[in-house]
Amino acid sequence: MDIIEERNRQLEIDDKKYIWHPFTQMKEYLQEKPLIIEEGNGCILKDIYGNEYIDGISSLWTNVHGHRIEKLDRAIEKQLKKVSHSTLLGLSNIPAIRCAKKLIEITPEELTKVFYSDSGSTAVEIALKIAFQYQYQAEDGDPGRKKFISIINAYHGDTIGSVSVGGIDLFHATYKALLFNSLKSQSPYCYRCALGRSYPECDLECLKQTEEVINAHSHEIAALVIEPLVQGAAGILVQPPGYLKGIRELCNKYNIIMIADEVAVGFGKTGKMFACEHEDVTPDIMTLAKGISGGYLPLAATLTTKKIFDGFLGRHEEFKTFFHGHTYTGNPLACAVSLANMEFFEENKVIEKLGPKIKRLTENLEQFRPLDHVGEVRQRGIMVGIELVADRDSKESYPTEARIGNRVVMEARKQGLIIRPLGDVIVLMPPLGISMDEIDSLCEITCDSIRTVTDIA
Ligand SMILES: *Cc1c(COP(=O)(O)O)cnc(C)c1O
Repeated sequence: MDIIEERNRQLEIDDKKYIWHPFTQMKEYLQEKPLIIEEGNGCILKDIYGNEYIDGISSLWTNVHGHRIEKLDRAIEKQLKKVSHSTLLGLSNIPAIRCAKKLIEITPEELTKVFYSDSGSTAVEIALKIAFQYQYQAEDGDPGRKKFISIINAYHGDTIGSVSVGGIDLFHATYKALLFNSLKSQSPYCYRCALGRSYPECDLECLKQTEEVINAHSHEIAALVIEPLVQGAAGILVQPPGYLKGIRELCNKYNIIMIADEVAVGFGKTGKMFACEHEDVTPDIMTLAKGISGGYLPLAATLTTKKIFDGFLGRHEEFKTFFHGHTYTGNPLACAVSLANMEFFEENKVIEKLGPKIKRLTENLEQFRPLDHVGEVRQRGIMVGIELVADRDSKESYPTEARIGNRVVMEARKQGLIIRPLGDVIVLMPPLGISMDEIDSLCEITCDSIRTVTDIA
């Protein structure tokens, strides 16, 4: 056995021996051959054997321009020669300042302050605590407002607070006793409308139902949390036009703080830099993570308006301070690469050039529609969800044990594509930097994998 073979064998053993993988049934994982990535370049990932794969989900929705982007690599190398970490608790650092300034420049105008953290979950957790504390202590706050309202099928992260405002039973049921109560409103999941209606004749009945819930609790609600435009982790559920704007109007009418969780949709994935821009919506609080660092390092941000920020100002002994801060808050390396990421967008006109890629993706998606087991194909920008069903007419789902999504993903892997399912929904979310040819291959392999798996199912 040569040295490389021996190294690879050992890595496979040690992966199974030492790592507990997230969202993974380890009993099954231990029986499979692990896929271990060694390198990335552009939209291609390479495993330890040198096999190449298209990164069809941008390394879990984070990678924006591709891997090994020179400008981003260099930003980290340059910062490494200055300092890798220092704290934002009472001090500051250069990349954190520059990155915050840039974030404020590119997000909706009323957002003026940046609170850093290190994951989407913490960004949401912070947003919830800020909203709660604002109501408690600010002059225009209302201490009676202690509840949150969120949307069924929402996903906002895995920490207890962010799970409490989540709405995916599979992830949440086990922890129910640990969670705080939050109000839930109808999900705009048009393919399986809980109200049995269809768009546009429904006239957004789901919004009206949301208003009823709000109305019944109008003086108890501190904030509403929403994933603007697309509920991502629920299976790329694309909201009908006008829905997000309607939510903003409800928040205005009932004096509720609006938290837009742009962790998944931010940084170009919907075709604009931020999803809220599509409907001219400005939230009171916005959460960002995933694409914020170009997919390089863990970084997140919670942005607020001046009005929210001002609610925390006071004399030391008034205890209006926001008592929150993670150790790696505002990490210089992460902030340096995030700034480079945002500059890359501008210098390369990434958003402006996205139109033709989104169109190419749309054209490619046509090949999925005739397949017998494709119930719906959803797309917003570069985000795609292909919902597989056992029966197209009745929309009946596959039984869980069929593991249909997982089987499609494994088939795609054999053909050189890395994707990941959300239940029975096959998700495609390539880096914005993907080429036209790679879009074609991504769709071709996915389509072929679905056909192969569902034909024998
Ligand atoms: C992924 C995600 C989160 C959680 O982010 P982590 O970095 O995994 O903690 C929160 N909200 C949305 C909308 C997400 O897609």
